[in-house]
Amino acid sequence: MHKTTLSHIGRLQATYVVVTGVFVLFFVGLIKLQIFEHSELATLAENNRIRVVPIEPRRGVVFDRQGRVIVGDRPSYTVSVVPAEERKGLTIPHLAPILDLDTTQIRRRVKRNAASPYQPAPIRRDVPFDAIAVLEEQNSEFPGVNYQLDRVREYSVDLRAEAFTGHVGEVSEQEMERNPQADYRLGSTIGKKGVEKQYDDLLRGVEGTAFIEVTALGEVLGEYKGKERVPPVPGCDLTLSIDNDVQLAAIQALDTQDQKFSNMKLQSDSAPIIHRAGAIVAIDPRTGEILAMTSAPGFDPNTFSGMITDSMWQAISTDPAHPLLNRPLAGLYPPGSTFKLLTLGAGLESGVIDENTTFRPCLGGYQFGNRFFKCWEKRGHGVQNSIHAVEMSCDAYFYQLGLKVGVDQMYRYAMLCGFGKKTGVDLPSELSGLMPSVQYYDKRYGKNGWTKALVLNTAIGQGEVLTTPLQLAQFYCGIANWGTVYKPHLVTKVTHPNGRVDQIEPQVSFQLPFSRSTLAIMREGLRLVVEGGSGTARRLRNNLYSVCGKTGTAQNPHGEDHSWFVGFAPIENPEIVVCALVENAGHGSEVAAPVAKKVIEVYMKKKLGLLEPQQQPEPMAQVGAKELRP
Ligand SMILES: [Zn+2]
Repeated sequence: MHKTTLSHIGRLQATYVVVTGVFVLFFVGLIKLQIFEHSELATLAENNRIRVVPIEPRRGVVFDRQGRVIVGDRPSYTVSVVPAEERKGLTIPHLAPILDLDTTQIRRRVKRNAASPYQPAPIRRDVPFDAIAVLEEQNSEFPGVNYQLDRVREYSVDLRAEAFTGHVGEVSEQEMERNPQADYRLGSTIGKKGVEKQYDDLLRGVEGTAFIEVTALGEVLGEYKGKERVPPVPGCDLTLSIDNDVQLAAIQALDTQDQKFSNMKLQSDSAPIIHRAGAIVAIDPRTGEILAMTSAPGFDPNTFSGMITDSMWQAISTDPAHPLLNRPLAGLYPPGSTFKLLTLGAGLESGVIDENTTFRPCLGGYQFGNRFFKCWEKRGHGVQNSIHAVEMSCDAYFYQLGLKVGVDQMYRYAMLCGFGKKTGVDLPSELSGLMPSVQYYDKRYGKNGWTKALVLNTAIGQGEVLTTPLQLAQFYCGIANWGTVYKPHLVTKVTHPNGRVDQIEPQVSFQLPFSRSTLAIMREGLRLVVEGGSGTARRLRNNLYSVCGKTGTAQNPHGEDHSWFVGFAPIENPEIVVCALVENAGHGSEVAAPVAKKVIEVYMKKKLGLLEPQQQPEPMAQVGAKELRP
């Protein structure tokens, strides 16, 4: 019995041990299940042989209205370093000259871009193939170095479309913090400006994952068979309202060979092409569709597609010509005489004048109190009615009209015409401009610190009023479209990867506060600017189509006058509004009007089937779904 008891105890003990053992095993298994197997990183930490490699999705392609590629992708190599496999004192010093970076830059990128010590941290995108060939041939010299076939954003250089395409770049730490819900990963490419930023969610697609087996020494064996790769989901393609032909005309129109715009002394007979600073916006007033948009000088957005170096960034961001300033929607300029149409509309609509109202004669200006406000025409314009005042752009007439309308009404009408606020274009970083109100003047000069004299300047688009070229284009779209203003926009169609197509319908933004008869008088003034005997834009006259518009010469405190022209064609049924601004170029009639003419001409000739086949930019190769090569 004793023996039995002993054996019983022994059995009990044995049971206890077994139970404990099972429990311990179970417990360990649980930990393993929860901590190790559920975390891919920890599995890597355990055996260090499977690399989780993100597969970048194909970013959506951006097309013009005729399906021509504006922005696409091209294949390129990205070089990464796996921190845990890097050999100190060997890998990075060897890699630096090949990537054209110094060792500190590489270390900084490894630190910044490494999600874990076992995952490749991207160091440089768009690495030339000969550099990759060196890495391939001398594999043993570069432990921990990884390269993969990727794609990089490619922008048409000829179209100089960065004002609306914007560019992509590597996500910054601040952007990751600001958008915690976005699936950003260090090293991810995201839209930084323009359409790329505005529509990043649609263009970007969803990242996939591949599992790559490597030896303990970091040698790649191939794709890991035990785990299926997660394929990426490509981004949506976007169709823009841009017409590549009109866009090309716009950028070429700003170029000149006129030495007036150059500091360079002519060395040879052939004058070099000079890129003038300025902006052009072309819009279809019937829909608000933007046909062309350019900002000069610009920058090559391809620069940002790879990983931009500090010195490259320094050079672009501190350039005194401000290539990063997006002039069409963030450039603020006094509108000059192009603003006289607003003053005219306000005068007619509020009833302070009619079409035939005349004022005191222009004697080269207008005497207000003890100050003589000059007209641009020193010899004077004499007496004329409102329509001829527009034709000749007589400042003296508009000084007197401005006084009649008053600060309050000028402000009210300007705001109703879209000045002093954003147009709501589908692009980021638009500015509101400035339309001074009584409150504004009171705040700025004190309640009794200003006089009505300020409205004289506002009436001719000088003084404190500031507009963007896009706002002016929008206002003239309203005049062209008999008062109905459509929201300026670029994207007309979104094509999803599954083939679904979303058409973006034009949206009415607001109505100009002018009756049809007021608009008819305004349009007659604009017609005479081109067709009248004293018009300031007579050089736009031609036998092919009718065109009208307004010139402007805007004084600015920072240098030579800015040159403006805003107009539309054909007059009877306008299809295109063009706003051209040339910085520091002098008279609108001499510079901006012929610039705008070139843009309108291409549009109209194309419509009439008279456009000679132009040298189109090289079609860009589109990259389909590329195989990932570790
Ligand atoms: Zn005058």
